[in-house]
Amino acid sequence: MVYIIIPVAFLVITFIVMYLYAGPFFKGLPVLVYHKISSTKKPDFLTVATSRMREHLEYITKKGYTTIFLSDLVDYVENGKPLPKKPLMITLDDGFRDNYTDLYPLLKEFNCKANIFIVAGFVQTPGNMGPRAEGEFMLQEEAKTICKDHVQYGLHTMYHKNYHDLTLQEIDEDMRVSKQKLDELGIPYQPVFAYSWAYYFKDDLVKQAEVFGILKKHGVRYAFKVGDRLNRLRVHNSSRLLLNRIHMNGSYSMWQYAIALNGFIRISQRLKKILK
Ligand SMILES: [Zn+2]
Repeated sequence: MVYIIIPVAFLVITFIVMYLYAGPFFKGLPVLVYHKISSTKKPDFLTVATSRMREHLEYITKKGYTTIFLSDLVDYVENGKPLPKKPLMITLDDGFRDNYTDLYPLLKEFNCKANIFIVAGFVQTPGNMGPRAEGEFMLQEEAKTICKDHVQYGLHTMYHKNYHDLTLQEIDEDMRVSKQKLDELGIPYQPVFAYSWAYYFKDDLVKQAEVFGILKKHGVRYAFKVGDRLNRLRVHNSSRLLLNRIHMNGSYSMWQYAIALNGFIRISQRLKKILK
Protein backbone atom coordinates (compact mmCIF):
# COMPACT_ATOMS: atom_id res chain seq x y z
CA MET A 1 0.00 0.00 0.00
CA VAL A 2 2.81 2.36 1.02
CA TYR A 3 4.43 1.73 -2.36
CA ILE A 4 1.39 3.26 -4.05
CA ILE A 5 0.67 6.07 -1.61
CA ILE A 6 4.16 7.54 -1.63
CA PRO A 7 4.49 7.93 -5.42
CA VAL A 8 0.90 9.19 -5.72
CA ALA A 9 1.45 11.71 -2.91
CA PHE A 10 4.70 12.77 -4.59
CA LEU A 11 2.94 13.29 -7.92
CA VAL A 12 0.09 15.25 -6.33
CA ILE A 13 2.49 17.51 -4.43
CA THR A 14 4.63 18.00 -7.55
CA PHE A 15 1.52 18.91 -9.54
CA ILE A 16 0.34 21.43 -6.91
CA VAL A 17 3.78 23.04 -6.67
CA MET A 18 4.06 23.25 -10.47
CA TYR A 19 0.57 24.71 -10.70
CA LEU A 20 1.36 27.36 -8.11
CA TYR A 21 4.56 28.31 -9.87
CA ALA A 22 3.38 28.08 -13.43
CA GLY A 23 -0.06 29.60 -13.07
CA PRO A 24 -2.98 28.19 -14.97
CA PHE A 25 -0.96 26.57 -17.69
CA PHE A 26 -3.88 24.73 -19.27
CA LYS A 27 -5.66 27.88 -20.38
CA GLY A 28 -3.33 30.71 -19.51
CA LEU A 29 -2.00 33.42 -21.77
CA PRO A 30 1.75 33.38 -22.32
CA VAL A 31 3.19 36.84 -22.94
CA LEU A 32 6.81 36.75 -24.03
CA VAL A 33 9.20 39.67 -23.64
CA TYR A 34 12.16 40.14 -25.94
CA HIS A 35 14.51 43.10 -26.35
CA LYS A 36 17.05 42.81 -29.19
CA ILE A 37 16.84 40.43 -32.14
CA SER A 38 20.22 40.45 -33.83
CA SER A 39 22.18 38.61 -36.48
CA THR A 40 25.40 40.47 -35.64
CA LYS A 41 25.48 40.73 -31.82
CA LYS A 42 26.33 37.71 -29.69
CA PRO A 43 23.26 36.28 -27.92
CA ASP A 44 22.99 37.34 -24.28
CA PHE A 45 20.41 38.05 -21.59
CA LEU A 46 18.70 40.69 -23.76
CA THR A 47 19.74 39.61 -27.27
CA VAL A 48 18.15 36.72 -29.16
CA ALA A 49 19.87 35.66 -32.40
CA THR A 50 17.76 36.30 -35.50
CA SER A 51 18.15 32.63 -36.49
CA ARG A 52 16.90 31.57 -33.04
CA MET A 53 13.95 33.98 -33.31
CA ARG A 54 13.07 32.25 -36.58
CA GLU A 55 13.07 28.94 -34.69
CA HIS A 56 10.81 30.43 -32.02
CA LEU A 57 8.29 31.52 -34.66
CA GLU A 58 8.53 28.15 -36.42
CA TYR A 59 7.90 26.41 -33.12
CA ILE A 60 4.81 28.39 -32.14
CA THR A 61 3.40 28.09 -35.66
CA LYS A 62 3.88 24.32 -35.58
CA LYS A 63 2.30 24.10 -32.12
CA GLY A 64 -0.81 25.94 -33.31
CA TYR A 65 -0.41 29.20 -31.36
CA THR A 66 -1.95 32.38 -32.72
CA THR A 67 -0.12 35.59 -31.88
CA ILE A 68 -2.28 38.47 -30.67
CA PHE A 69 -2.11 42.23 -30.40
CA LEU A 70 -2.49 44.27 -27.24
CA SER A 71 -5.81 45.47 -28.63
CA ASP A 72 -6.98 41.84 -28.90
CA LEU A 73 -6.40 41.44 -25.17
CA VAL A 74 -8.21 44.72 -24.45
CA ASP A 75 -11.14 43.63 -26.65
CA TYR A 76 -11.26 40.27 -24.95
CA VAL A 77 -11.29 41.69 -21.42
CA GLU A 78 -13.52 44.71 -22.01
CA ASN A 79 -15.84 43.61 -24.81
CA GLY A 80 -15.85 39.84 -24.44
CA LYS A 81 -14.44 39.35 -27.95
CA PRO A 82 -13.10 35.78 -28.04
CA LEU A 83 -9.40 35.11 -28.31
CA PRO A 84 -8.03 32.46 -30.70
CA LYS A 85 -7.81 28.92 -29.38
CA LYS A 86 -4.15 29.05 -28.38
CA PRO A 87 -3.34 32.73 -27.91
CA LEU A 88 0.21 33.95 -27.44
CA MET A 89 1.48 37.48 -27.10
CA ILE A 90 4.91 38.51 -28.30
CA THR A 91 6.22 41.75 -26.81
CA LEU A 92 9.52 43.58 -27.20
CA ASP A 93 10.79 46.34 -24.97
CA ASP A 94 12.49 49.64 -25.77
CA GLY A 95 12.15 49.82 -29.60
CA PHE A 96 15.61 48.75 -30.74
CA ARG A 97 16.36 49.24 -34.42
CA ASP A 98 16.80 45.50 -35.02
CA ASN A 99 13.10 45.11 -34.29
CA TYR A 100 12.68 46.74 -37.69
CA THR A 101 15.64 45.23 -39.55
CA ASP A 102 15.61 41.69 -38.16
CA LEU A 103 12.25 40.99 -36.54
CA TYR A 104 9.86 42.68 -38.95
CA PRO A 105 10.81 40.49 -41.98
CA LEU A 106 10.24 37.40 -39.81
CA LEU A 107 6.84 38.68 -38.65
CA LYS A 108 5.84 39.08 -42.29
CA GLU A 109 7.19 35.67 -43.26
CA PHE A 110 5.38 33.83 -40.45
CA ASN A 111 2.38 36.16 -40.44
CA CYS A 112 2.83 36.89 -36.73
CA LYS A 113 1.91 39.86 -34.58
CA ALA A 114 4.18 41.60 -32.09
CA ASN A 115 3.82 44.44 -29.62
CA ILE A 116 6.60 46.88 -28.88
CA PHE A 117 6.78 48.86 -25.65
CA ILE A 118 8.57 51.82 -27.09
CA VAL A 119 10.68 54.37 -25.21
CA ALA A 120 9.24 57.57 -26.67
CA GLY A 121 12.36 59.71 -26.26
CA PHE A 122 14.59 57.11 -27.93
CA VAL A 123 12.76 57.12 -31.27
CA GLN A 124 15.19 58.63 -33.75
CA THR A 125 14.37 61.44 -36.13
CA PRO A 126 16.78 63.18 -38.54
CA GLY A 127 17.00 66.09 -36.09
CA ASN A 128 17.35 63.89 -33.02
CA MET A 129 19.38 60.72 -33.14
CA GLY A 130 18.55 60.17 -29.51
CA PRO A 131 20.45 60.29 -26.25
CA ARG A 132 22.06 56.89 -26.82
CA ALA A 133 24.24 55.45 -29.59
CA GLU A 134 23.26 56.58 -33.04
CA GLY A 135 21.29 53.92 -34.90
CA GLU A 136 20.51 51.92 -31.78
CA PHE A 137 16.78 52.64 -31.86
CA MET A 138 14.15 52.69 -34.58
CA LEU A 139 13.66 55.70 -36.77
CA GLN A 140 10.30 57.43 -36.68
CA GLU A 141 9.48 56.32 -40.23
CA GLU A 142 10.44 52.72 -39.49
CA ALA A 143 8.30 52.67 -36.37
CA LYS A 144 5.38 54.05 -38.37
CA THR A 145 5.86 51.56 -41.20
CA ILE A 146 5.79 48.40 -39.11
CA CYS A 147 2.66 49.32 -37.18
CA LYS A 148 0.62 49.32 -40.38
CA ASP A 149 0.28 45.54 -40.21
CA HIS A 150 2.31 43.39 -37.82
CA VAL A 151 3.09 45.61 -34.84
CA GLN A 152 1.26 47.55 -32.16
CA TYR A 153 2.83 49.82 -29.57
CA GLY A 154 2.56 50.27 -25.84
CA LEU A 155 4.10 52.84 -23.50
CA HIS A 156 7.48 52.37 -21.85
CA THR A 157 8.43 55.77 -20.37
CA MET A 158 10.13 58.78 -21.97
CA TYR A 159 13.83 57.95 -21.40
CA HIS A 160 13.70 54.54 -19.72
CA LYS A 161 14.17 55.89 -16.21
CA ASN A 162 13.40 53.53 -13.38
CA TYR A 163 10.23 54.74 -11.65
CA HIS A 164 11.80 53.61 -8.39
CA ASP A 165 14.04 56.68 -8.60
CA LEU A 166 11.31 59.19 -9.44
CA THR A 167 8.84 61.07 -7.27
CA LEU A 168 5.13 60.67 -7.94
CA GLN A 169 5.13 64.09 -9.56
CA GLU A 170 8.01 63.09 -11.84
CA ILE A 171 6.27 59.83 -12.77
CA ASP A 172 3.13 61.77 -13.62
CA GLU A 173 5.17 64.12 -15.82
CA ASP A 174 7.03 61.23 -17.46
CA MET A 175 3.75 59.59 -18.43
CA ARG A 176 2.45 62.85 -19.83
CA VAL A 177 5.49 63.69 -21.94
CA SER A 178 5.99 60.15 -23.26
CA LYS A 179 2.42 60.04 -24.55
CA GLN A 180 2.76 63.54 -25.99
CA LYS A 181 6.01 62.58 -27.72
CA LEU A 182 4.45 59.56 -29.42
CA ASP A 183 1.49 61.71 -30.50
CA GLU A 184 3.92 64.23 -32.03
CA LEU A 185 5.78 61.44 -33.83
CA GLY A 186 2.49 60.05 -35.17
CA ILE A 187 3.09 56.67 -33.52
CA PRO A 188 -0.18 55.15 -32.29
CA TYR A 189 -0.22 53.23 -28.99
CA GLN A 190 -2.54 51.09 -26.94
CA PRO A 191 -3.58 51.96 -23.35
CA VAL A 192 -0.93 49.59 -22.07
CA PHE A 193 2.33 50.21 -20.21
CA ALA A 194 5.39 48.10 -19.41
CA TYR A 195 7.31 48.99 -16.25
CA SER A 196 10.88 49.97 -17.16
CA TRP A 197 13.55 47.85 -15.49
CA ALA A 198 10.57 45.61 -14.61
CA TYR A 199 10.18 47.66 -11.42
CA TYR A 200 6.61 47.74 -10.14
CA PHE A 201 6.89 48.77 -6.46
CA LYS A 202 6.51 45.24 -5.17
CA ASP A 203 7.94 46.25 -1.80
CA ASP A 204 6.07 49.52 -1.44
CA LEU A 205 2.38 48.88 -1.90
CA VAL A 206 1.43 52.40 -0.84
CA LYS A 207 3.49 53.96 -3.64
CA GLN A 208 2.34 51.20 -5.98
CA ALA A 209 -1.29 52.19 -5.41
CA GLU A 210 -0.39 55.82 -6.08
CA VAL A 211 1.45 54.90 -9.28
CA PHE A 212 -1.57 52.85 -10.36
CA GLY A 213 -3.62 56.02 -9.87
CA ILE A 214 -1.23 57.96 -12.11
CA LEU A 215 -1.34 55.27 -14.82
CA LYS A 216 -5.14 55.31 -14.77
CA LYS A 217 -5.20 59.10 -14.90
CA HIS A 218 -3.22 58.86 -18.15
CA GLY A 219 -5.64 56.32 -19.59
CA VAL A 220 -3.43 53.28 -19.04
CA ARG A 221 -5.68 50.30 -18.33
CA TYR A 222 -3.13 47.46 -18.43
CA ALA A 223 0.49 47.17 -17.36
CA PHE A 224 3.09 44.43 -17.62
CA LYS A 225 5.81 43.33 -15.26
CA VAL A 226 8.06 40.31 -15.75
CA GLY A 227 7.10 37.30 -13.69
CA ASP A 228 7.99 34.34 -15.91
CA ARG A 229 4.47 33.00 -15.46
CA LEU A 230 1.37 32.72 -17.61
CA ASN A 231 -1.58 35.04 -17.12
CA ARG A 232 -4.91 33.78 -15.98
CA LEU A 233 -7.52 34.16 -18.67
CA ARG A 234 -10.19 35.74 -16.83
CA VAL A 235 -8.14 38.80 -16.22
CA HIS A 236 -9.31 40.14 -12.87
CA ASN A 237 -9.52 43.86 -12.25
CA SER A 238 -6.86 43.63 -9.57
CA SER A 239 -4.31 42.06 -11.92
CA ARG A 240 -4.75 44.34 -14.94
CA LEU A 241 -1.85 46.55 -13.90
CA LEU A 242 0.31 43.61 -12.85
CA LEU A 243 0.20 41.30 -15.86
CA ASN A 244 2.97 38.76 -16.26
CA ARG A 245 5.49 38.36 -19.00
CA ILE A 246 8.03 35.63 -19.60
CA HIS A 247 11.58 36.85 -20.19
CA MET A 248 13.21 35.53 -23.36
CA ASN A 249 16.87 35.05 -22.59
CA GLY A 250 19.06 34.88 -25.69
CA SER A 251 21.06 32.04 -24.20
CA TYR A 252 18.06 29.73 -23.80
CA SER A 253 18.15 26.51 -25.81
CA MET A 254 15.00 25.58 -27.75
CA TRP A 255 14.21 23.16 -24.95
CA GLN A 256 14.39 25.97 -22.35
CA TYR A 257 12.32 28.15 -24.67
CA ALA A 258 9.56 25.52 -24.73
CA ILE A 259 9.69 25.23 -20.94
CA ALA A 260 9.51 29.02 -20.57
CA LEU A 261 6.62 29.28 -23.01
CA ASN A 262 4.61 26.91 -20.83
CA GLY A 263 5.35 28.90 -17.69
CA PHE A 264 7.76 26.41 -16.15
CA ILE A 265 11.10 28.18 -16.45
CA ARG A 266 11.19 29.32 -12.82
CA ILE A 267 10.47 25.92 -11.37
CA SER A 268 12.98 24.29 -13.71
CA GLN A 269 15.64 26.82 -12.67
CA ARG A 270 14.89 26.22 -8.99
CA LEU A 271 15.02 22.47 -9.45
CA LYS A 272 18.37 22.87 -11.20
CA LYS A 273 19.71 24.87 -8.23
CA ILE A 274 18.45 22.28 -5.75
CA LEU A 275 19.98 19.43 -7.73
CA LYS A 276 23.37 21.17 -7.99
ZN1 LIG B 1 12.89 48.48 -21.12
